[in-house]
Amino acid sequence: MTERTDQTERADQTERAKRTERTASAGGAGNAGSPAGAGSPADAATYEVVVVGGGAAGLSAALVLGRARRRTLVVDAGEPRNAPAAHLHGYLSRDGMSPAEFLAVGRAEIARYGVELVRDRAVDVTRGDGGFAVRLAGGSPSGEGRTVRARQLVLATGLADELPPVPGLAERFGRDVLHCPYCHGWEVRDRAFGVLATSPASVHQALVVSQWSKDVTLFLHTLAEEELTDEDRRRLDTAGVDVVPGEVAALVVEEDRLTGIRLAGDGGEHAREVLFVAPRPVPRTGLAVRLGAETSRTPFGDYPVTDERGLTSVPGLWAAGNAAGFAEQIVNAASRGYRAGAAINLELLMADLDAGGRR
Ligand SMILES: Cc1cc2nc3c(=O)[nH]c(=O)nc-3n(C[C@H](O)[C@H](O)[C@H](O)COP(=O)(O)OP(=O)(O)OC[C@H]3O[C@@H](n4cnc5c(N)ncnc54)[C@H](O)[C@@H]3O)c2cc1C
Repeated sequence: MTERTDQTERADQTERAKRTERTASAGGAGNAGSPAGAGSPADAATYEVVVVGGGAAGLSAALVLGRARRRTLVVDAGEPRNAPAAHLHGYLSRDGMSPAEFLAVGRAEIARYGVELVRDRAVDVTRGDGGFAVRLAGGSPSGEGRTVRARQLVLATGLADELPPVPGLAERFGRDVLHCPYCHGWEVRDRAFGVLATSPASVHQALVVSQWSKDVTLFLHTLAEEELTDEDRRRLDTAGVDVVPGEVAALVVEEDRLTGIRLAGDGGEHAREVLFVAPRPVPRTGLAVRLGAETSRTPFGDYPVTDERGLTSVPGLWAAGNAAGFAEQIVNAASRGYRAGAAINLELLMADLDAGGRR
């Protein structure tokens, strides 16, 4: 395919996705004309599956479900975790794509199979005999939008990154303030790196990023020097990482580029071009908790316990992507979504066969 045709095809896909999104927002009749069959006005708000969250995990689950002819709705608030970054990396065949384009293509793909996508926020959920009732905010400040129903519910709500409260840091996140060298290390290789220590794990981060640059300074910030073990010191020394004690007061930015790190008091300024930080992950597990899903505590927050397919402790409730674990990068999140989608299809099929018929 030529570049021109490729662009035209992508533009068509994006337009198709927008049309589906508009229909769903307007409370349209759902999968009319789709392989799954038309929904009547009476069942317009009833789906076989509702997916909350339209990032890599949610869209992947929806793609599999749509292709399996399952009447599926994706509810997405439209705030994917990697939105601050201009490009995504490390996803084979998608390396360097913009996060917005990745999602636009994904939305167009699910639209092809009649999956609906609504730009909204799920604010409450209950579970009864027939499945789940999910209340949407509907854009109203009081959060009293419509309710959609589903036999199975996927939570693909991702997580939020709580950044260290250093002046000037949040504005540069995803640009020259980074958290993941696998995502963006190559793009900043060989530059002057700083690492902002906020816990003993920051030593590990400083060691890891030394794979991408030989010029790394670990700013101890909130970490006391005594917290460094002998092994930490030995490894940092061998990796050539400089260690600077003292609290970081602010980032120095010139012409929209990070140029330095300013320490509190008379600690002075250190020229740096990139700062690695460790945001505190805040899992979006509110809906799972409301349904009584069992969670497990990890150093990166509490996540719903799932089996290898993504099924939580609540029958019919699934979790995928960063909603189910901190470590999922985009390709892993997509893979988890795919796996959950296929398992849900099987679950619905067997339930219907065991009940003596297909719905
Ligand atoms: C700055 C940055 C750069 C990154 N770069 C890369 C990279 O290059 N490569 C890589 O592999 N990974 C990267 N990541 C990690 C990547 O963002 C995650 O792995 C990925 O987004 C996880 O996908 P997800 O579908 O689980 O969640 P998300 O992509 O975060 O999607 C969750 C969606 O659910 C929606 N949502 C949440 N709650 C609700 C609700 N109640 N109702 C409706 N919708 C809701 C959100 O608005 C969002 O649209 C990066 C992360 C950051 C912070």
